[in-house]
Amino acid sequence: MNDCIFCKIAAGEIPSKKIFEDDDILAFHDITPQSPVHFLVIPKKHIRNIMELGEGDILLVGRLLNKAQELAVSLGCAEKGARFVINCKADGGQTVDHLHVHVLAGRPLAWPPG
Ligand code: 5GP
Ligand code: ZN
Repeated sequence: MNDCIFCKIAAGEIPSKKIFEDDDILAFHDITPQSPVHFLVIPKKHIRNIMELGEGDILLVGRLLNKAQELAVSLGCAEKGARFVINCKADGGQTVDHLHVHVLAGRPLAWPPG
């Protein structure tokens, strides 16, 4: 995906504040944080959104969520909690078409969403 921002971040072509990286997953701070803690966890593989997950991606998605949890704990969010969000397509508020899990924490977050 040549024109995908998150593929470029995963390839190191666009800089990011990385929190974690392995062969399959990257976590980095959101460029426009909406809370004191706001980072994104992405697969390096280009998957457009959660609607396009296949059965072959089950293990990868499990690892994404596990890493989101692990990093939230390491950033001090275990006691007060966090919000784990996956926006999908236009009505879901997705603006970058590469699957990502938002982790937001560090302040009480309102519900329902706007
Ligand atoms: P979405 O709206 O698709 O769920 O979330 C996309 C997120 O990516 C937004 O929170 C936005 O601030 C973040 N974002 C967009 N471009 C960049 C970038 O170049 N670097 C980083 N670190 N975050 C970005
Ligand atoms: Zn991509």
